[in-house]
Amino acid sequence: MSLRPALPPEPAQLEALAAQLRALVAGDVLVRPAAQEAAAAAAAAPASASAPPEAGQPQQKTDVAAERFASHTRLFNCAALPSCFLVVCPRHTADVVAVVNFCREHHLSPSIKSGGFSTAGWSTSGDVLVDMSGLSRISLTHPDEYVFGQLSSATSSAPALRSSKNDANSRRRKAEEAFDSPSPSASASKRRSSPDPCDVAESSARSNAGGHVSRSGSSAGSSSSGALASAVEQAENGTLSSASGSTGAGAGSTAGTSIHSRASGSPSEAKTDSLPAPAPALRPTLRHGANPAYVFEHERWQRHHNPPDSPSSCGNNGGSSARVQLPTSGGFTWREGQGMTSSPLPWDGSSLAGGSSGASCDAPGMPHSGASPALGHLSLAQEAAMGGQRRPKQTLAPGIYTKRALYASFGPGVGIRELDAYTSEAGKAFGAASDSKAKEKGWNNGDEGAPYFVPASAYPVGSTSMTTGGFGFLTRAYGLSFDNIVELELVTADGEVHVINESSTARGGVEADLWWAARGAAPCLGVVTRITAKAYPVSSVFSGNLILPFSPSTAPSLIQHWRDVLKGDVPRELYANLILTSGPDSRSHVVVIQLAWLGARNDGETFVQALSAWSGERVLLKDVQEKSFLDQQQTVAQVLRGGEGRRWSVRAGLIEALTDELIASTVHNFVALQTHARAVLILELAGGAVRDGSAPNANAGCLGNENREAHFAIAALQQWDNKTEDSRCAASADGWTNTRLGPYPSFLERESRQRVAATFGRENLERLLEVKRRVDPQGLFKHNFLGSATSDEPQPLPNTSVEHATPSQQAEAGRS
Ligand SMILES: Cc1cc2nc3c(=O)[nH]c(=O)nc-3n(C[C@H](O)[C@H](O)[C@H](O)COP(=O)(O)OP(=O)(O)OC[C@H]3O[C@@H](n4cnc5c(N)ncnc54)[C@H](O)[C@@H]3O)c2cc1C
Repeated sequence: MSLRPALPPEPAQLEALAAQLRALVAGDVLVRPAAQEAAAAAAAAPASASAPPEAGQPQQKTDVAAERFASHTRLFNCAALPSCFLVVCPRHTADVVAVVNFCREHHLSPSIKSGGFSTAGWSTSGDVLVDMSGLSRISLTHPDEYVFGQLSSATSSAPALRSSKNDANSRRRKAEEAFDSPSPSASASKRRSSPDPCDVAESSARSNAGGHVSRSGSSAGSSSSGALASAVEQAENGTLSSASGSTGAGAGSTAGTSIHSRASGSPSEAKTDSLPAPAPALRPTLRHGANPAYVFEHERWQRHHNPPDSPSSCGNNGGSSARVQLPTSGGFTWREGQGMTSSPLPWDGSSLAGGSSGASCDAPGMPHSGASPALGHLSLAQEAAMGGQRRPKQTLAPGIYTKRALYASFGPGVGIRELDAYTSEAGKAFGAASDSKAKEKGWNNGDEGAPYFVPASAYPVGSTSMTTGGFGFLTRAYGLSFDNIVELELVTADGEVHVINESSTARGGVEADLWWAARGAAPCLGVVTRITAKAYPVSSVFSGNLILPFSPSTAPSLIQHWRDVLKGDVPRELYANLILTSGPDSRSHVVVIQLAWLGARNDGETFVQALSAWSGERVLLKDVQEKSFLDQQQTVAQVLRGGEGRRWSVRAGLIEALTDELIASTVHNFVALQTHARAVLILELAGGAVRDGSAPNANAGCLGNENREAHFAIAALQQWDNKTEDSRCAASADGWTNTRLGPYPSFLERESRQRVAATFGRENLERLLEVKRRVDPQGLFKHNFLGSATSDEPQPLPNTSVEHATPSQQAEAGRS
């Protein structure tokens, strides 16, 4: 084992580390530019004396390298600057195993980045940033067809990728050749020669980086997503044979004909790694062959999907009432409509959105924050527009359908936005199938054309929220995201790959512990390389906003009214929040009451009427209508639009009761926060299906039972411009959000140990730390809320030092 290099290493050392890493992984490895420049200059010195490079070229090269590095280390929140000096972009699980082993052996600390939305900045605070955006494969499968215990990559059968040859490129090429099956598919090799693996979807290349494989929940033999891809191809060609009798776990898969079943065949099949041939369909369709496979291969869809041009409006689906429209520049504008005042709002909302000038809902020009490139070209505006044009007739009545779940399986490079876009379309195609087998099995039970969604947070966040929270519009109906996880693939600090699911509990030992702990705290235990979660049909949602002016004198009464309407046993169909949000000056702050009702419209109207009954202020806008769930999800992205790259803080907590005292302090805090930041305070109805996890024997994850029983969630979102305000802003909402119960784990930032304990409960935290010590005795994964919870003191702010930042990040940080 080598000694830990002095950090940050000297340029030459850094290049040597990068070269070693390049030899181990198929994905790209980037070096922090300053060191890269120095190393290059030193290496080029003798040559340049005799043959100087053409003017302009070295600078250009440096700029490109700097920009590439910056694009991988950029966070949604620019207050937290990166300290990492290497970036690795894994293409598949085996690459992740290689990086983990490398970091452990070299005493380097990895930080894992999926979406890059955590405002604590952990995903860039390590020595080696592992950018997971390349693992972006998605599929949607019927539970009967899903085979548990499958590995995403064949990590066990191939020889180790360690080589002593000097030429890193040739070593990498050899490695790729060694683990690429002799595939006839041209697209596979094309993808591998892509200049930036982080910009392509997960490769099917297989490699072995010396990790061991541990699986639970399946008696299947060696299996992989390579076999899966191969099987998709076979299914398409109609050559797929029937199941080889794999035994599923959890939902008790006894797969009949399934590409997953096929994938559980011999190791040699697992090495067959050709990518599926392009399908002619414009969007996912069921494949009908001798044995239809109910899996939608995302990349093929992406390649062939040609969405129509985006209109400038977003999220509007033809309803008649007043609504927010996105103009060609600026933020929201307000249009008069039914049931609203004729006066426009005194501000246009662009201030809240940070003054963004773009009108697109998808912000295609926005810097890539690390969120998945999957479906990157498919803007939600386009998707919303497609909804009207292409949505098949659906017959499913609005409601909660816990028994009709499909399984969405995806890599951590898939952000929530992409996940929704995919499961929506694939779900519609799934339900609309007229395949006789599906009917015979009762899969197609009247939900023709209904889009499907995994319960998740609103946009835009990355997939870490799937394992630590995922509190959103579907939570009260179906639970938090991690309540809906049926399987996880996780690489632990020793380089082992664990596939954990419900059957892990019965197996006991470390697998059982991991299955319990990962649902709530996965980032503290290892690297998540695949998530499989339930997706449910959401035919439509009756949802929208009531907007009223904010006044410190009337707001308490309005919040009390909101609380009283939501008293008692509120149906799970209802999501409701109340948001205090900044306008450009104190006269233009507003109160937004948002609701989303999953049941019949008439029942939802009852709540709208009850909430509208408060008469302390005139209603500025009332816009509640039936819409697609995608449109509803998009509403939050609209509010946050333009916030990327600004200085952010997100603090949250859970509460049992919304007392009059807390209401008074909410209003007081909101007014106080306005002096230095744009603040949004959110009160959300919690409970519902989240409570199911606290039932005895619920076999839920590690979230504290008391937190599951909480009645409301509260959150403070702030954004500001001036870095001199960092400490003040980051700390200013703490008093209000420092609740006895702590927040859902996805909202844990840099917290004291007490605060982390308040989220999990003391007993659960002790067990969590015990599991952590067992699977990560050296504390390799320390850039997470558990890693920072070592003291009873509040933790320092995110790293805002510019010392280690790249020049462009320094420039970004310096703006005020
Ligand atoms: C504007 C905004 C809105 C939000 N809204 C919601 C909401 O509606 N509901 C909700 O529940 N939460 C919400 N959150 C919180 C959000 O869910 C968390 O910040 C979440 O961690 C973001 O996921 P990410 O993948 O973008 O995180 P990242 O910043 O990439 O990572 C966060 C943490 O997870 C680790 N990590 C990342 N990828 C992996 C991986 N593959 N394996 C293991 N560890 C990994 C990182 O090292 C880091 O510790 C919001 C946050 C912001 C900034």
